[in-house]
Amino acid sequence: MKIGIVGAGVAGMTAAYRLVKAGHEVEIFEASGYAGGLAAGFPVAGTTLEKYYHHIFTSDTCIREMVDELGIRGSLHWLTSQMGFTYKGKLYPFGTPMQLLKFTPLPFLDRIRFGLLALYLGKVDDWKKYESITGYEWMKKHSSPALLRVIWEPLLKGKFGKFYDKVAMAWLWARIHTRASSRKGSEEKLGYFKGGFEVFHKALAAAIEKAGVQIHFNQPITRVLTEKGKFKGLEVADQVKTYDRLIFAAATPIFLKTCKELPTDYVKRVTQLDFLGAQCLILVMKQKFSDMYWINISDADIPILALIEHTNFAPGDWYQGKHLMYVGNYLPQDHKYFKMKKEEIFAELLPHLQKINPAFNESWLEEYYLFQDLYAQPVVPLHYSEVKPTYETPIENVFLANMALVYPEDRGTNFAVDVGNKVARLIDPAIVVPAFKET
Ligand SMILES: Cc1cc2nc3c(=O)[nH]c(=O)nc-3n(C[C@H](O)[C@H](O)[C@H](O)COP(=O)(O)OP(=O)(O)OC[C@H]3O[C@@H](n4cnc5c(N)ncnc54)[C@H](O)[C@@H]3O)c2cc1C
Repeated sequence: MKIGIVGAGVAGMTAAYRLVKAGHEVEIFEASGYAGGLAAGFPVAGTTLEKYYHHIFTSDTCIREMVDELGIRGSLHWLTSQMGFTYKGKLYPFGTPMQLLKFTPLPFLDRIRFGLLALYLGKVDDWKKYESITGYEWMKKHSSPALLRVIWEPLLKGKFGKFYDKVAMAWLWARIHTRASSRKGSEEKLGYFKGGFEVFHKALAAAIEKAGVQIHFNQPITRVLTEKGKFKGLEVADQVKTYDRLIFAAATPIFLKTCKELPTDYVKRVTQLDFLGAQCLILVMKQKFSDMYWINISDADIPILALIEHTNFAPGDWYQGKHLMYVGNYLPQDHKYFKMKKEEIFAELLPHLQKINPAFNESWLEEYYLFQDLYAQPVVPLHYSEVKPTYETPIENVFLANMALVYPEDRGTNFAVDVGNKVARLIDPAIVVPAFKET
């Protein structure tokens, strides 16, 4: 079969890999000039770093299997993460059971309660019961007023803003469950590639190109052409390309913009999933900001979701001894930060960064970068399984393969590989995806 794919992110490239290996003719169109989509990197400190902080969990077996197939297991390192939490401007370590026991913003019994709650949610497999209640409501019922005030409400508000009390408990369950199943003992090990996720994208892109896939960079598709519910072709750079099957591996709002003939009930259904944008300011510093890899910010007056000091996670000598930190936020698409220059955003956030580390100032900086994307985080509503789109779309021979299909898990590169595998198998059921083997 001749197959067209929109998007050279992890999902699109994985689908291409499976299909070309099965003997199909595959072509990818990518709007940007690079592969990897949201997980792509940029050159900094003598190597490549993701525009948005990335790591994987030990339980991410779909991507780990692909890593093995691509022969790059040696580049994937399992590193210890140090987690922290700010409360009223003070920074507390918050990654191990012992650190939790010493977390004084919570009364002692609530520290125990938090640990038990995380243990419980880590063990429960039946997520369906969490579809009918929001994470906020569930925590209100099952944690405690102090836990809600210090931990859950700030985390949900920080991540989802005005949607904080709309997100299903199924989403929160998945986050806690994944983390719990990835832990061994009191320490958490997270996976990261020496050279960045770029190592993964380059290996995947090289494998598919070697097998004959053409990736057309800087070629956004402008229209999915249809006639009476049937796929007719792709409009790209004023040309029409025809295929037997089309995989749309870019965000759903882009599918809706480019495919005009979709039935209104389908459009209504898929637009029940809202998206937040992501924005990361990446600071390249001469010295450390903190000792933590990841700091969740619990103070409502600090307009930052989290600080991710990458070089407190990956070894500093991979980055010429420079210190790299993400100042991360998820924001509604109409947020003023999306219209501001990086200098304006930095100036606005500087006094807030100083609340966490009063010594920090501009002289610590060598340079800084700003990255943003409008379709970065789905906001999972109640009963999402009832409206979740299927891979097949109402247009015959057009398949959707993006993060809207990932549920109840949160979107991630592991699930992008899974989505790519699954859509390829739907198109050609003879495709066999190998199982991940630990050794
Ligand atoms: C802040 C942040 C942190 C994250 N942290 C992690 C993490 O720690 N671990 C993890 O595993 N995952 C993480 N993720 C999620 C992960 O990056 C995504 O789930 C994954 O990369 C999605 O892959 P995808 O292929 O489905 O989509 P995308 O990466 O969105 O790829 C879609 C591609 O389609 C292209 N495209 C768009 N429009 C068009 C068009 N008209 N024509 C042609 N091409 C088009 C885009 O340019 C893009 O390359 C994070 C994401 C963000 C934003």
